[in-house]
Amino acid sequence: MDLLVYFLYELKQKALTTYNLKFKTALNINLKGYRLIGQCVKKGRKSYLIRLHGKLLNEFKQEYIKDVLTHEFAHAVQMELFTKTKPHGKEWKSIMETLSGKAYKKSNINYCLPKNRTLKTYLYKCACSQHSITSIRHNKITRGIMTYKCKKCGQIIQPAF
Ligand SMILES: [Zn+2]
Ligand SMILES: [Zn+2]
Repeated sequence: MDLLVYFLYELKQKALTTYNLKFKTALNINLKGYRLIGQCVKKGRKSYLIRLHGKLLNEFKQEYIKDVLTHEFAHAVQMELFTKTKPHGKEWKSIMETLSGKAYKKSNINYCLPKNRTLKTYLYKCACSQHSITSIRHNKITRGIMTYKCKKCGQIIQPAF
């Protein structure tokens, strides 16, 4: 968190010295799931909310802060300077370069979050073959809610472990 506050402070200083901009920024580390890795929301006049992803922040720390906080902060600067510009257009890129002090290139970290949780599978068997059962089905079988029959031999499949 301290690192986050420090980085945000630095970004604000740059916005002030370079663009003569001063605005409020609140941070909220409440993004979950796979849809967003960061978000910048205008809350009102000269006030922005930057939302960050807790899991990615923990995992990539400084790299994530550098990439994503700068990215979202650049959106705030962009919204202050321009009324109609593309979200990741040339204005935004130029702001990114000013804020980060280097040529803009896409992050080389793959922040892509898995779209589907890969389910753990369990090995089951019947008279004729082996079956791979998802943990959801496995739990139903273990709790006695469901039984599954093999389509080929008709036997109820049993745990193979
Ligand atoms: Zn963006
Ligand atoms: Zn079978």
